[in-house]
Amino acid sequence: MILDEIEISLTEIPGHITACVFFCGCSFTCPYCHNPELREFGYSGTDTEDMVDRVVQKLGEAKEDGVTAAMFTGGDPLFSVSADSFITTLINALKADNFELELWVSTASLHKARKIAHNNLISGFMLDIKTLMDCACLAGPFHLIQRTSHLKSILTSESKIEIRTTVARSLHDSVVIVAMARQLADLGIKKWTIQGFRPKNCLNAAFNDMPQFTLKELQYFQSLAQDFIETVELRPNLMEKEGG
Ligand code: SF4
Repeated sequence: MILDEIEISLTEIPGHITACVFFCGCSFTCPYCHNPELREFGYSGTDTEDMVDRVVQKLGEAKEDGVTAAMFTGGDPLFSVSADSFITTLINALKADNFELELWVSTASLHKARKIAHNNLISGFMLDIKTLMDCACLAGPFHLIQRTSHLKSILTSESKIEIRTTVARSLHDSVVIVAMARQLADLGIKKWTIQGFRPKNCLNAAFNDMPQFTLKELQYFQSLAQDFIETVELRPNLMEKEGG
């Protein structure tokens, strides 16, 4: 359920040194997924019984090294049937440490995230929206159109929510970006982060050879989306490929 290692990030939560805690299991099959091993449920050898204690202990040690925030990410941290109660237990156990706590959420898990949001358990959510709300090409049965009531409900809570979309050729173009921006604006979304996919260790090996969008192309998407959404941020994630 949980990967037995924690990664430190200086960029995941702006203004914080963040410990990323990785959860296993995910119902999506994003071809650009660069953590395909995390999609498998039960990847870790850790049993559930002592998981909370282990994470609390690891984050306690990280805090002594200057870590001020924790991000539960994956995979999909809310994928398993009992994930929301496990995460609630974990969050309560971490309360004394005063961490800024954020949770990565997929559209498949919005109903569980909604409960967590309204219990004021977490500072913020990072919601990964793959493509158009009514398109099932990446999200299988979990496209957002069926989940908008949960998203609207989270937007009324006190938790911050960041909407992020990973873009890749063959999946996104200017028409898709404009249509997504319209849909997000209609939901009342005021900030959207567009990030480039990383062509490395991809679930679909063909994506390892797929050129990333250039900075100029991403900036064009940004300018199109800004006609609908107040703040559109870019995370280009540009990589230099060997020999190229
Ligand atoms: S990118 Fe994320 S949501 Fe997509 S398959 Fe990988 S872990 Fe799942």
